[in-house]
Amino acid sequence: MSSVKILELYKDYGALEVIHGVSFDIEHGEFVILVGPSGCGKSTLLRMIAGLESISDGKILIDDRVINNVAPKDRDIAMVFQNYALYPQMTVEKNMGFGLKLKGLPKAQISAKIAQAAEILDLKPLLDRKPGQLSGGQRQRVAMGRAMVRDPKVFLFDEPLSNLDAKLRVAMRAEIKALHHRLGSTIIYVTHDQVEAMTMADRIVVMQGGHIEQIGAPLELYDNPDNMFVAGFLGSPS
Ligand code: ADP
Ligand code: MG
Repeated sequence: MSSVKILELYKDYGALEVIHGVSFDIEHGEFVILVGPSGCGKSTLLRMIAGLESISDGKILIDDRVINNVAPKDRDIAMVFQNYALYPQMTVEKNMGFGLKLKGLPKAQISAKIAQAAEILDLKPLLDRKPGQLSGGQRQRVAMGRAMVRDPKVFLFDEPLSNLDAKLRVAMRAEIKALHHRLGSTIIYVTHDQVEAMTMADRIVVMQGGHIEQIGAPLELYDNPDNMFVAGFLGSPS
């Protein structure tokens, strides 16, 4: 059984075809990175998996269940956005618990989940602050905490580090890898940063113009790119 299965997926916005026949399988616990140039459809694909964008054709399955018509909140998927998408008027604690409150979870259970995530992500001293009183890295950790408290089967990250400076980006890569190691969840992570892809992924999906050019482990793609595009994109000398 795959964790996530994408079957012949298509997306068009009117006459504009953005995703053309994308298929791939992700194993449980795999860290898969989608890379490709700006506009190639990475965010659209993630948003379709999250249920934030309708599907023109094809299927998405989580644990062998077709989720095309399942509401986003019932998909067992949590997404972390590039711009964090935190509520500015709410404290860190409220930001982390909001989704669970909407789901109707009892207060004590919400508090316990927040405490656990805050411990893991080193957010305990920040729970009473508002997003405006946090650094970029701290905001990103809150966004990750908000995803974590939902115990999702699958985490989706859309360029989570691109608003951070270079030094912090390197530190956060390690944090995300450590988190993945600890939780063992499936992660689909979008970036246009080749170094991020090469250093973090179990497998890389290289996209261009709404389709997949190649899928493979980082070194596989580096050593044996199928074509010039993959070779050029991952910086292999061949
Ligand atoms: P990426 O994340 O790889 O940079 P996107 O998935 O954001 O790419 O966008 C893929 C293509 O779809 C782009 O050409 C973009 O302009 C187009 N697109 C994205 N969202 C919409 C929308 N809501 N309406 C029309 N076109 C869109
Ligand atoms: Mg994008």
